[in-house]
Parts: sequence; structure tokens; C-alpha cells
Amino acid sequence: MQLTEAEWRARLTPEQYHILREHGTERAFTGAYEGNKAPGEYRCAGCGAMLFSSDTKYNSGSGWPSYTAPVAGEAVAEISDGSLGMARTEVRCAACEGHLGHVFNDGPREAGGLRYCINSASLDFVPKP
Ligand code: FE
Repeated sequence: MQLTEAEWRARLTPEQYHILREHGTERAFTGAYEGNKAPGEYRCAGCGAMLFSSDTKYNSGSGWPSYTAPVAGEAVAEISDGSLGMARTEVRCAACEGHLGHVFNDGPREAGGLRYCINSASLDFVPKP
């Protein structure tokens, strides 16, 4: 999904635009979903693509919603990110290239060892009916 900058600005809140389209980061412990334990699915706030499930969400203590895996490998794109002098792996929505967060190797071992550290503002939670 490709939109112009003006179309993204019209579609998103200023915070969503900053994070999704300008690779911003919300402040830790300020997002809507960090403490959300309800069952449901997390969709891309930019395009609606299904990205994460409550089934893989866990409390990492980081201050951002954390998951051990996306709903499907092809739902996200993972890109080397050397910004801020750190070697990190950025996570984007594969469908609209919106910035979601980063993935780290310090996740729960029994669940594969990955921690998808995602901005709440990049997500829309849809509770299980
Ligand atoms: Fe998207």
C-alpha cells in the first residue's frame, strides 16, 4: 500500500504519523497497549494488516508492547538499522512499510528468544469477540 505523505498525514494522528512514517518511538510506559492483556489481534494502525496476536504478547518490562513473534513471518519486514550508533533490527509492516519498532534477541528462551518491541501507536487492537 503506497500513499503520499499528505494522504498519510490525513489518515493518521500526528503521533501515529511520527512513529509509522518518520521512524519515531513513543516514550516507554506511555502507550495504550503496553499493559493490555485482553485476547485479540493487533493490526497495523497505518493499513489494517494483521501483525501480532495476544497469544504471543508477554510482559517484557521494557515499557512497550512485546511479542515473541508476528502472526506470520511475511507480515513484517526486518531491516538492519544502524541509527543512534546501535546495531538493531527494525521491524516494519510488510504491507505499508510503516515503522513498528525493533526486534531483539533477549526474548523468552522457551518461546524462541525473540522480543518484538513495538510502539502502541503503530497498532490498532481488535478484541476477540
Ligand atoms: Fe501497515
